[in-house]
Amino acid sequence: MQKRPDLIVCEECDAVYHRPRLGRCEIARCQRCNAELDRDTGNRLERLLPLTVGALVLFVIANVFPIVTIELQGLSSDTTLIGAVMALARDGMSEVALLVTATTLLFPLIQMLVLFYLLLPSSRLERPPGFVLLLRLMQAARPWGMIEVFMLGILVALIKLSNMAEVIPGPALWSFGALTVLLTVVVSFNPRYIWHICEQKQALRDEVREHSA
Ligand SMILES: [Zn+2]
Repeated sequence: MQKRPDLIVCEECDAVYHRPRLGRCEIARCQRCNAELDRDTGNRLERLLPLTVGALVLFVIANVFPIVTIELQGLSSDTTLIGAVMALARDGMSEVALLVTATTLLFPLIQMLVLFYLLLPSSRLERPPGFVLLLRLMQAARPWGMIEVFMLGILVALIKLSNMAEVIPGPALWSFGALTVLLTVVVSFNPRYIWHICEQKQALRDEVREHSA
C-alpha cells in the first residue's frame, strides 16, 4: 500500500484533500461538513511533555498521601485513595471498588504513560515499537478516565461530612484538584498530531533513502 502523507481525509465525511500548509494557529476545515481537518499546533507538542511529567508527579502525590483526615470526638482517621478502594472491597462493594480503580487509577495512568512515551523526543524521531497500538490504546482509555467525576464526588462528600466531623483536607486532595486541571489540558490534545508528525518524518527519511539509493 502506498502511503500518501500529502493527502488528508476528513474524519467525518471521508472527503480527501491535499494537506494544506498552515500558518501560525491556522485551522483547516472540511469544505463539505466543516469538520476540523488539521490545525497548526505550533510548539504545543513541546509544551505537552513537561505538562505530562507534571501530571504524573501529581498522580503519584495524589495516591501516596491521604486525601482527607477526619476528626471526631478526639479520634482521627485518614485515608488514601487506595485505602478507600480497599475499604470498599472489604465492605462487599467490589464492583464499586473496581470501577473507582479503573476510572481514577488505571485509565488515567495508561493515558499519561502512553503520552509520555510517545512524546519523548526519541519517539518522535523514529516511530517507536507499538506506536499504532499505543495510540489506539490511548484513544480507547480516554472516555474511561474520570478523575473530574471523582473530584466532584469527594467535594460533595466532604461538604456533607463537615457538618458531622472536622474535616482536614490532605495533600492528596490538592494534588487531585491540580491533576484534574492538568489532565484536562493534556488529554484534550489530539493524538492525530503526534501521528502526523511521525508520518512526516518517516516520509522525509524514505525520500532521503530513495535519493541516496
Ligand atoms: Zn468532511
